[in-house]
Amino acid sequence: MNGIARWRLQVQGVVQGVGFRPFVYTLASRHGLRGFVANRSDGVHIEVEGQPDALEQFHADLQSQLPPLAHIDSVLVQSVAPQGDSSFEIHESAAQTGPSTPVSPDVATCPDCLQELFDPADRRYLYPFINCTNCGPRFTIIRDIPYDRPLTTMAAFAMCPACAAEYRDPRNRRYHAQPNACPACGPQVWLHPGNQSGSAALEAGRQALAAGRIVAIKGIGGFHLACDATNSDAVQELRSRKGRGDKPFAVMARNLEQVRQFAEVSEEEAALLTSRERPILLLRRKEGTSLSPLVAPGTALLGFLLPYSPLHHLLLTDRPLIMTSGNLSDEPICRVNEEAIQRLSPLADLFLLHNREIHVVCDDSVTRIHEGRELPLRRARGYAPLPVRLPRSAETVLAVGGELKSTFCLTKGRYAYLSPHIGDMENLETQQAFERSLAHLQSIFRCTPQRVICDLHPGYLSTRWATKFSQENGIPLLQVQHHHAHVASLMAEHGLEGSQPVIGVSFDGTGYGTDGAIWGGEILLADYSSFRRAARLNYVPLPGGDAAVKRPYRIALTHLHAAGIPWLPDLPCVAAASAQELTVLQRQMETGFHCVPASSMGRLFDAVASLLGICHLASYEAQAAIELEMRAESQPVEGYPFALSEGSEIVMDSTPVLRSIVRELQGGIPPAVISARFHAGVADCAVSVCKRLRRETGLQRAALTGGVFQNVLLLQLTKARLLQAGFEVLTHRIVPPNDGGLALGQAVIGAKD
Ligand code: ZN
Ligand code: ZN
Ligand code: FE
Repeated sequence: MNGIARWRLQVQGVVQGVGFRPFVYTLASRHGLRGFVANRSDGVHIEVEGQPDALEQFHADLQSQLPPLAHIDSVLVQSVAPQGDSSFEIHESAAQTGPSTPVSPDVATCPDCLQELFDPADRRYLYPFINCTNCGPRFTIIRDIPYDRPLTTMAAFAMCPACAAEYRDPRNRRYHAQPNACPACGPQVWLHPGNQSGSAALEAGRQALAAGRIVAIKGIGGFHLACDATNSDAVQELRSRKGRGDKPFAVMARNLEQVRQFAEVSEEEAALLTSRERPILLLRRKEGTSLSPLVAPGTALLGFLLPYSPLHHLLLTDRPLIMTSGNLSDEPICRVNEEAIQRLSPLADLFLLHNREIHVVCDDSVTRIHEGRELPLRRARGYAPLPVRLPRSAETVLAVGGELKSTFCLTKGRYAYLSPHIGDMENLETQQAFERSLAHLQSIFRCTPQRVICDLHPGYLSTRWATKFSQENGIPLLQVQHHHAHVASLMAEHGLEGSQPVIGVSFDGTGYGTDGAIWGGEILLADYSSFRRAARLNYVPLPGGDAAVKRPYRIALTHLHAAGIPWLPDLPCVAAASAQELTVLQRQMETGFHCVPASSMGRLFDAVASLLGICHLASYEAQAAIELEMRAESQPVEGYPFALSEGSEIVMDSTPVLRSIVRELQGGIPPAVISARFHAGVADCAVSVCKRLRRETGLQRAALTGGVFQNVLLLQLTKARLLQAGFEVLTHRIVPPNDGGLALGQAVIGAKD
């Protein structure tokens, strides 16, 4: 064996279920190498034997010519004794316990499959479950690892000879595509009630939608409720059946051209809409289109997405469809046929069902574009369970997040695995979904937490759950302050190792403070081990605490009261309240009865929105703030000044801002201008504080986080002004700035040794 060498390569990253082994097989054959490739639960193992220069070339190509869905985090190379293999083989998977490997998210139908779907000569013509190694469901059908058909919900379907041949052929696009199927052997659709199936069911579904009916559709990660988005009667019916208030619905359009009929789409937005992740993307809608105004009453911001499963491609026609999560408000999305029929019957006229089981739910993801990049608002399908790579190896911990937009995070080695969005942890159903998702992630990533981390809030369901979990498992519990966790999550997604603190601007709706008050307008000096509250908004009493969020006009009234501004009857927020309500509120403010002090930036946005007459009642979270943002005019304007106190805890007092707003409002200045000046004032205030803290500490890095920074206008203004002042600025790109990102921050704080 003259000059022959053998290498053992251990590859970690997203390398299973993404066509990695056939890629290795092809590559090894091309370089004339012998040996094998195998899936293990800790990654892919390769042994290759041949000429040393061929091995070098193989190693280089392995990293540079990856299949589309694969992602390599590390390759460990070891020289071993040659064995004299005569060929290169793909070994069957062996189940192992111990280490773990990342799993691919669910991926939108690829162009090759799409072409076959609409090719009358193809054996999968119009088959709603067509997929290949480069696309299709992954995360939602995996029961356990290694990722192999018997451990997925496709185990129930035996492949026909034609499918089995594709599956076994390393040169085929469907080699080891675990959900591989065809009309002869794979899952089927049918309509309920009734007995139509296959193409007839799809045709009946399209007709029902065209006729204004509401159809529950089983998709990739759960059920959707769909109806014609141009039919106001249908949309109104769905809105009232779902008990949804004014919360906007997402709209699925057939293609990019159709989206452009209804909304402004930039180049970056087009790229994101057509990406394989296919998130719901929030876009500015056009006026006067055929879209029903009831899709998103009162807001110019509308969520659009494109079809991501073959079933969607077959259902979409000239009419865009509302695609909203198949649930009653506040409950998790439905997963199982029988459960959906039971729970969604009051909501849907018809059910389009299928028999490919969804093992875990995964909602649609939601994003916005900020400066050409993604600003995640809800991280789920297409993204979960891709890990965030930690700056260093950590012990295994479980962080349970907050209350709203709940997610949890499990760490293991250098990976932090975030669950997909679960929902608001306010009821038993969500808690059950949380537990199911946790059991699933623990099993596919082989994690046993050594510590559990939760929010500081004593009243959160997640805090109570974590306390119980800690007792039952005999592991320590750590409680982390809400805004400290927000800042840490942003640091972690940027890979900071935390040796130096950042100036963390956490502008948020709520969060339990160390003094028992509601925080949310905070600037912290923070690293992973501790934080100091360097600045805060002035405290304003919030009558009824967090329950006040549904009535922005009451928040406006309390802000006026705190600023010493009289409740003049011509102010829109005063006009929105009854005389009796004003009297009661006045008394409540004087006595402090049932009032919680709040330094919340989110509430200040609510107050200003109502003060300008833009929104008095919020039927969904952050409604007032979103409408205020959308109303702001885009010309550069001068900001209203906050008053900054001296001392080691700077108070950012909004009194002069509110005074200016009332004065300008009464002077007839349009709300669009006032809104813009308010946004600029908040940005200026953050920059002034950051500058002062830089002078005191020498710190140069500012981190913009918290739910208020879902506001792209505020994010842009603040970031631009900080950059101009010479700061390095961190913003969110992987996890949401809202509470959906909280668990990651809790985990890095808790996993610090
Ligand atoms: Zn495909
Ligand atoms: Zn088949
Ligand atoms: Fe928060």
